[in-house]
Amino acid sequence: MTILKIIPPANPVLRQKAKKVKALTPKIQTLIDNMFETMYDSYGVGLAAPQVAQPLRMFVAYLAEDPLVEDGIEAEPAPGIGQELVMINPEIIHNSDVMALGNEGCLSIPGYQGTVERPDGITIKYLDRKGNKQRLTTHGWMARVLQHEYDHLDGVLFIDKALEIWELGAEDEDDLEDDA
Ligand code: ZN
Repeated sequence: MTILKIIPPANPVLRQKAKKVKALTPKIQTLIDNMFETMYDSYGVGLAAPQVAQPLRMFVAYLAEDPLVEDGIEAEPAPGIGQELVMINPEIIHNSDVMALGNEGCLSIPGYQGTVERPDGITIKYLDRKGNKQRLTTHGWMARVLQHEYDHLDGVLFIDKALEIWELGAEDEDDLEDDA
């Protein structure tokens, strides 16, 4: 497997509306494997094809644990957590009325985070990597990751939606300046 280059924010592919995947060719299967490899290498929880310069409507995601369970807020992990998800030609067919705020980062915009308000729950339909029709209804962090990746397919980045954006490690830099 190959670690793919994550393109920088200025690359226009990140801002395009991606095209539907027409056939699950061996080339697409290899791309899926390489996207997982690239995502894990970068410690990401999701990666969309446009982020690696492929303007195609597909993304991968893997959220090992549910932070809401770890924090004792929910008893069970949300559906989809702990599974290597491959979503091809996805469509969000339902958004919950309940909105949630959460902090997001993006492998395409390293060093920054922002607070984004999104529907807490979604239902998304998609094809899996075998071409089977699937549907997932989920909520919380899993739903947030899927919506973030879905936005990439329409050329939308979290910075477009964030209520507030900040640079990671800025405090460390301030400390350095204070020390100097
Ligand atoms: Zn992203």
